Amino acid sequence: MLRIWMDGQLVPQSEATVSVYDHGLLYGDGCFEGIRAYGGRVLKLKSHLARMYESASLIRLAPAYDMEEIEDAIRETLAANDLKDAYIRLVFTRGVGTLGLHPFKCPTPGTIVIADKIQLYPEELYENGMHVIVAKRPRIPIPCLDPRIKSLNYLNNILAKIEAIDAGVLEAIMLNTDGQVAECTGDNIFAIKDGRILTPSTSTGILHGVTRRFVIKEIAPACGYEVEEAVFPLDELLSADEVFLTGTAAEVIGVTRIDDTVIGDGTVGPVTKACIAEFRRRIAEGCPED
Ligand code: PMP
Repeated sequence: MLRIWMDGQLVPQSEATVSVYDHGLLYGDGCFEGIRAYGGRVLKLKSHLARMYESASLIRLAPAYDMEEIEDAIRETLAANDLKDAYIRLVFTRGVGTLGLHPFKCPTPGTIVIADKIQLYPEELYENGMHVIVAKRPRIPIPCLDPRIKSLNYLNNILAKIEAIDAGVLEAIMLNTDGQVAECTGDNIFAIKDGRILTPSTSTGILHGVTRRFVIKEIAPACGYEVEEAVFPLDELLSADEVFLTGTAAEVIGVTRIDDTVIGDGTVGPVTKACIAEFRRRIAEGCPED
């Protein structure tokens, strides 16, 4: 049985439970990270921890443990479960409080680290590309909920994900309320047009993806491309030569169809292939934790 790190201790999965009065459950009040370990090293751990503590700070949640303690907890959880390649879920809940909304009546935040095997998209999708839809439901605008907060309330994304499931695909592209391309329910998005790589700027209201940043700063430049962060409508995505998604679970994966529109020639294009190969090379060569 898996062992889960909860509030300072490793406990068997069957004992890793939270109170029905935890505001993480009652209100989705809390924040989380999805992180990957490859060969015992934790990809971009520093960036994930920085984002986690930024999320916590933006919701005025004072973590019960500092970054070094959480880093130790992650390594301890991997070791306790004998996992070298894993998906890690780090969660801060607001903690146990009263039934009212008041977050500061919850004296102690809950802290959870889960390390488990991950279910990747089938390799076939990396070779042939995936089909996605455009969700009818727009992304929550920035003034309503700052997307830098990776909050425990994912209903906006889940409702778009249900649209994808109903359409028989695995991901949905979300536009913002101005109709500009934003991101997917759990991935960021990139488009290639005439040899240029574009990705929606953070001003469109997207999660500041760690993999997105890895591609912008390291992967694409190593492949000979600069990524432009821009604001663009759906038409520009549909007429792109190539489209790919990035995310901790997805890594880098090509999109070959959006709704009924075939992207480019309907195969995973050369720029996407180069980025996938470069991503894999970096993981194989030691998996950067910074
Ligand atoms: N957008 C959303 C809404 C997400 O949930 C995720 C996954 N965390 C991403 C983008 C990709 O971000 P990352 O590369 O940090 O996993």
